[in-house]
Amino acid sequence: MNFVDTARIYVKAGDGGRGHSSFRREKFVPKGGPDGGNGGRGGDVVFRVDPHLNTLIDFRFKRKFLAKDGAAGSWARRTGRDGSNVVIRVPQGTLVRDAESQEVLADLTTANEQVVLMRGGQGGRGNAAFTSATNQAPRHQEPGIPGDERWLELELKLLADVGLVGFPNAGKSTLISVISAAKPKIADYPFTTLIPNLGIVSVAEDKSFVVADIPGLIEGASQGKGLGTQFLRHVERTSVLVFLIDARSADPKADYNVLRKELAQHNPDLDRKQRIICLSKVDELDEEEQAALKSLKIDRRTPLLISSLDGTNIDDLKWRMWKPLEEARA
Ligand code: GDP
Ligand code: MG
Repeated sequence: MNFVDTARIYVKAGDGGRGHSSFRREKFVPKGGPDGGNGGRGGDVVFRVDPHLNTLIDFRFKRKFLAKDGAAGSWARRTGRDGSNVVIRVPQGTLVRDAESQEVLADLTTANEQVVLMRGGQGGRGNAAFTSATNQAPRHQEPGIPGDERWLELELKLLADVGLVGFPNAGKSTLISVISAAKPKIADYPFTTLIPNLGIVSVAEDKSFVVADIPGLIEGASQGKGLGTQFLRHVERTSVLVFLIDARSADPKADYNVLRKELAQHNPDLDRKQRIICLSKVDELDEEEQAALKSLKIDRRTPLLISSLDGTNIDDLKWRMWKPLEEARA
């Protein structure tokens, strides 16, 4: 359960501006000295960790990041303006590699961390800079140094924000497929096909999170299977658990208690996480049965009645998942 998200992007630092060649022109000063200014520096390529991001999905839509070039120098020894930096926002935990050499250039692990990955080119000198005892009237100037360009590979180990807990056949995989396919741009995200147990859910722009099925936790537990350490680490990092219980169960409360007990036995921390309780497949119930469930309380809460098949309360569930995450990230 170690999901990796990757992206390939092209970056370029700004070129330095060219130096200027000119001579001072003033009234009553027939032969002014050289006064061509230097070019400005090109902008840098900067990476910044944005704690609001948690996937590299945005890089599917924007792949080119160019810093601005420095402006040319001009007369009266005026230096050209420096080019502005390009700032690339990435989620915490992003690894940046040179696409060709595979060399790791940055490991961005800290929130709000900022790294200058590539410096912009120096501006060229103007002719004023070349004045010397032997050359009082230099005419030449330099071009700016071009900014470096390269392809980068970004890699992020995805950590799920929300874990789905339930017995086999409760509808976990179906729910993930429904909530993570809700936005068309999510549908062509390769992870949803590569790893069916993981979904990236987007409730609005800049409001996305990762939902993972937690297979093995219950199924494995009942078969006495041990859990891999990677898997445990993965689950420990989720901040919200959604309990999915089949609405047709003879005793949803008892199911919930079994699930909780299994979780707590594996890791008491899991039992302290925020939780949302859902009864799934309500489309299978008639009105009378649904009405009966509406007064049911589990763990002092009213469970949310959902159906992945007809969409009942699915949007509501997504927002309920998002709310505690938003608070945690703020
Ligand atoms: P998982 O084992 O928890 O991942 O469960 P699945 O998502 O594989 O679903 C198990 C079965 O329940 C499948 O046959 C699904 O088609 C069915 N199912 C899942 N969600 C719903 C639902 O909302 N309504 C109905 N009627 N069937 C569902
Ligand atoms: Mg499944």
